[in-house]
Amino acid sequence: KLYNQVQDLKGSIRVYCRVRPFLPGQSNCASSVDHIEDGSITISIPSKNGRGRKSFNFNKVFRSSATQGEVFSDTQPLIRSVLDGYNVCIFAYGQTGSGKTYTMTGPKNLTEQSQGVNYRALGDLFLIAEQRKDTIHYDVSVQMIEIYNEQVRDLLVSDDASLVRVNSTCDVIDLMNLGQKNRSVGATALNDRSSRSHSCLTVHVQGRDLASGAILRGCMHLVDLAGSERNAHVPYRNSKLTQLLQDSLGGQAKTLMFVHISPEPEAVGETISTLKFAERVS
Ligand code: ADP
Ligand code: MG
Repeated sequence: KLYNQVQDLKGSIRVYCRVRPFLPGQSNCASSVDHIEDGSITISIPSKNGRGRKSFNFNKVFRSSATQGEVFSDTQPLIRSVLDGYNVCIFAYGQTGSGKTYTMTGPKNLTEQSQGVNYRALGDLFLIAEQRKDTIHYDVSVQMIEIYNEQVRDLLVSDDASLVRVNSTCDVIDLMNLGQKNRSVGATALNDRSSRSHSCLTVHVQGRDLASGAILRGCMHLVDLAGSERNAHVPYRNSKLTQLLQDSLGGQAKTLMFVHISPEPEAVGETISTLKFAERVS
């Protein structure tokens, strides 16, 4: 359902492609990425009679050398939109291991440099709110959930998807750490679970104009989707997720999808099907 809905947005959704670098120890592999040029990426496809190539076009393609900061800088205008009262949705799509969590959150051993979109988005949000504090007072609250087998699980508190007020980036970092911890508790095979579940950080913003008293509301969903691999039983047609994102798909909402690919030649089949899907929605 979500994916049908995403396809309905064709044209109003921006799609950025990001290539994961080879992991340490893999440096001698040949990449399945033939070349990247502006918004286009060409994949080389091994075949019986030599090599084929296929190109895909997106709003932007990030090479494997792109830093977290570079990736975020093209996302930044969306953060201002949330404070202006728009609904924003940022998705990470791609097969398991292609770098979705890296883009949204960062690596396991997080440093300031390696912080992903979620941290940077919240940091920016508070920065802009502060710059506007003489004219608008903002309240920010967050919600962090996981959807697994059509079940919504709150990662912050025990009751059903509750909102938690936050006043600073530090508050958010504490909450995200708590959420990560709650996500792993009780999961026997965390990797398997995280590849089959969607996780979503939602930020609600309410602004009050200090002069007129007028209220504006915006919200931002930051979604780390389940792995896109064809052979896993992934809950793509997840109605819980569609419900959650209802207010942020279509209409005035601004949607950005990061499509991730792995560079290994063994993954080329998944890579092609991932890119085909992503190109259809852009
Ligand atoms: P996914 O969430 O799609 O399953 P991950 O984000 O967990 O994939 O990435 C798989 C591995 O690759 C992790 O060890 C991660 O730290 C690493 N990785 C992913 N993207 C990058 C990147 N751009 N730079 C460095 N390491 C990355
Ligand atoms: Mg992940």
